[in-house]
Amino acid sequence: MSSVASAPEPDLLRTPVIGALLLRRRLWQVPLLLLALALVAHGLFGPQLAPKNLSTLLVWVHYRGLLLVALLCVGNLLCMACPFMLVRDAARRIARPLRAWPRALRGKWVGIALLVAVLFCYELFDWWASPWATAWLILGYFAAAVSVDVLFSGAPFCKSVCPIGQFNFVASALSPLELRPRDTQVCDSCQGHECLTGAAPVAPQQPAARGCELGLFLPEKSGNMDCTLCLDCVRACPEDNVMLSTRLPGAELFEDRSGSGVGRRSERGDLALLAIVFTFGALLNAFGMVSPVYAVQRAIAEQLGTTSEFAVLSILFVALLVVEPVLLLAGAAAWSRRALPERLPLVKVVMRFAQGLVPLGVGVWAAHYGFHLLTGLWTFVPVAQKALADLGFALLGQPHWGVGGLREAVVQPIELGLLLLGAAGSMLVCWRLAQHEAPRRALAAFAPWGALVVLLLGAAIWLLAQPMEMRGTFLGG
Ligand code: SF4
Ligand code: SF4
Repeated sequence: MSSVASAPEPDLLRTPVIGALLLRRRLWQVPLLLLALALVAHGLFGPQLAPKNLSTLLVWVHYRGLLLVALLCVGNLLCMACPFMLVRDAARRIARPLRAWPRALRGKWVGIALLVAVLFCYELFDWWASPWATAWLILGYFAAAVSVDVLFSGAPFCKSVCPIGQFNFVASALSPLELRPRDTQVCDSCQGHECLTGAAPVAPQQPAARGCELGLFLPEKSGNMDCTLCLDCVRACPEDNVMLSTRLPGAELFEDRSGSGVGRRSERGDLALLAIVFTFGALLNAFGMVSPVYAVQRAIAEQLGTTSEFAVLSILFVALLVVEPVLLLAGAAAWSRRALPERLPLVKVVMRFAQGLVPLGVGVWAAHYGFHLLTGLWTFVPVAQKALADLGFALLGQPHWGVGGLREAVVQPIELGLLLLGAAGSMLVCWRLAQHEAPRRALAAFAPWGALVVLLLGAAIWLLAQPMEMRGTFLGG
């Protein structure tokens, strides 16, 4: 009987052209740095009307949508191309970091706090409507990335501080690609572990190759959490033993393997909280831009007898990002716990099932940001034409203010599809987690989490069916 050889796993790093493009990080970072500088200049000195300014338009309409498209189709590409890291690397040539990031600040706690702060400030200060504020936000981001990483060694800004990074790490659980060793036997006999520690220069004139600054050791890495796709490990491995290959999207959410630099997800309270903030934050962020939010805000203001937007928003955030999740998750955990073989504290039950919410969260973010991206797809064209014309380079001709994007009637089924896919993914992950936690009573352990997913899906469908504010997109000449 002839044996059937298994087909070699696809490896994007060895795919002609694509592999070479991926490995040249500067090729992505330099244009994005120039673009970021252009956005800052236009935000500070260009027209202060959001739909006519590149900073607000590209940051709040295009960047966020494309980030999710990239995450879902390939992986953490926008972390790979991050221009903040280009400036940070340049700054580190002048000032080398000497301190270790404080132990008390490790994990995701700082990043979660900043993610909530960004969501809050976005609503409070209407960042989406202010080119000037958006420009300063970009500059602030550069300053924060450089300050943290010039003071502290490794990559603490990416790993623990950057709210965009934490968002990307969560969503990249659904990416179809993952870095892993080509041949684990080669790793078994590897002495240097250069993918983690870095490699000495191969020639006197060449720079040393950096190892993984995020502390991920390739043979023990599990999933995409904390991986910025910088590919430093690929450049450092002397055996050329790292591949970027396909895997089952979302599997890392229920496999719960112990991974290098991350550990087991179910034992990390910060990762559970990140998944919860990510999912409920998606609903909150979408709620912030549909018309019923104004009625709710008015009702809160009347009850409090205040005109302070800060106070009203604080109440809304506490209600939707603290009280609601606590009640729903505690209820689901209490119900689910009855089927588990051991009596765990409710917090532990939540930690074991929280990752199940991630696919739905990704679906809500993708539907929401996809709406803005698709309905405003071409709006940057006339704005770029006008910006160049104002500089005296009418290379792109006169602005065509009439261009927009897809009609809402076309986009809505796409939104619904993304929500349903997200909910299906959450159901699957919760089911697999229930099978793992309660092999004998999986259905009973799963039921409350399945019900929670259905409830949140219903809320998301209702939200996205409401009339949406066309934030930052052009509505006329
Ligand atoms: S990936 Fe390369 S450097 Fe890392 S352990 Fe394996 S062989 Fe060694
Ligand atoms: S494992 Fe580490 S070095 Fe490799 S791409 Fe991910 S973050 Fe970069």
